[in-house]
Amino acid sequence: MSNTFDAIPQDDRIANAIQKLKSELRVVGQNSIPLAEANGRVLAQDILAFRDSPSIDVSAMDGYAVRIDDLNGLALPVIGTATAGSTPIDLHPQSAVRVFTGGPVPAQAQCVVRREDCNESETYVSVCLAADKVFSGMNIRRQGENVRTGELAVPRGTLLSANRFAGACTFLESDPVSVFQKVRISIINTGDELLPMGAPIQPWQIRDSNGPFLQSILTKHEWVDISRSQVADDPKAIETLIRERLPLSDVLLLTGGVSMGDTDYVPDAIQDCGGKVVFHRIPIRPGKPILGAYGPTGQLILGLPGNPLSVAVTFRRFALELIQHVGGFANSVPACKAILSTDDTKQIPLTWYRLVKLEPNGQLSLVPTLGSGDIASLVQADGFVEIPPNTLSSGIWPFYAW
Ligand code: AMP
Ligand code: MG
Repeated sequence: MSNTFDAIPQDDRIANAIQKLKSELRVVGQNSIPLAEANGRVLAQDILAFRDSPSIDVSAMDGYAVRIDDLNGLALPVIGTATAGSTPIDLHPQSAVRVFTGGPVPAQAQCVVRREDCNESETYVSVCLAADKVFSGMNIRRQGENVRTGELAVPRGTLLSANRFAGACTFLESDPVSVFQKVRISIINTGDELLPMGAPIQPWQIRDSNGPFLQSILTKHEWVDISRSQVADDPKAIETLIRERLPLSDVLLLTGGVSMGDTDYVPDAIQDCGGKVVFHRIPIRPGKPILGAYGPTGQLILGLPGNPLSVAVTFRRFALELIQHVGGFANSVPACKAILSTDDTKQIPLTWYRLVKLEPNGQLSLVPTLGSGDIASLVQADGFVEIPPNTLSSGIWPFYAW
């Protein structure tokens, strides 16, 4: 293995291209909505804790709340019960309160002794723990130990995924909450040869897989709205469709027709509709002809090359981060780094996205592929790694799961 987790070489042209385009894009606006409807959306405000967490001292265990001085081996009368959600009660000297996990610990108690460490009867309890095992605060979750009132609990620009939605529901005092508007994405698949499922098909025609790939990978996101259309390799028709979709979209994702062939009309069509090209062709495989542009009002326009592996890889590596930026994400989630253990003698003078599978040992192995049209290999892969130019495959690389 030639590299380490801390030193992974990479071609800066990829990050630079993404950064340059990002700076031209318009981030979507904001909406105030009830929090109950905000699951899966991107927060457009900081959520500050409206009260301490926990908001009072509560028990971490089922047991007995006591004063340490009262623990002299004698049985203490149990003077009350504190279940989760019950009103706090007082602990009188030389007595105990039965508490349950999450129940309020009486202000006068110094610790909670677990049931397992007690001898219990209906009305009395004696603690069997040695004195040196008991300390102040034992088994108590202290008021404010997680978060204090007014502290940042869920930051702006983050996705309200299940974990943060739970946090928002805990810490936001009341409706509404401010979220970024959904990103309106238009998927446009170009190609005379494309047919959807169900249509009678000739051997020289192909099933559209790029439309379904993009739809599938985007539908899991609550923060986008997708529309999909298909167009023939006809320059006027492509231009008309782009013109029609631009005012209705924050993002235009085109596939096919973006390289240098005679029927590759997409680059001209984008420019004829007022799109400004920021990059066209990046030294990568697959996906080299990728085109990045922005529209008249800062829309993201991406021309992804038509081959199925090119679309999969360039969407995940380029488009997702850019779309997240448009959607209000403060940061893009960096790719995790993973060990590719397959030894392979091939190298190319381009950044090489190689399909990989996750193995049970937590490492990655290469998925053999015959090229960017080999959709059967795509089916086998959990994602891909990014290997810099002129480098052998085995090593530690950024790993992009779908
Ligand atoms: P293009 O970039 O338009 O030259 O397309 C490159 C290759 O990808 C050609 O073999 C196309 O048939 C194929 N291709 C283009 N669009 C799609 C699509 N939507 N689904 C599957 N394959 C496609
Ligand atoms: Mg084509």
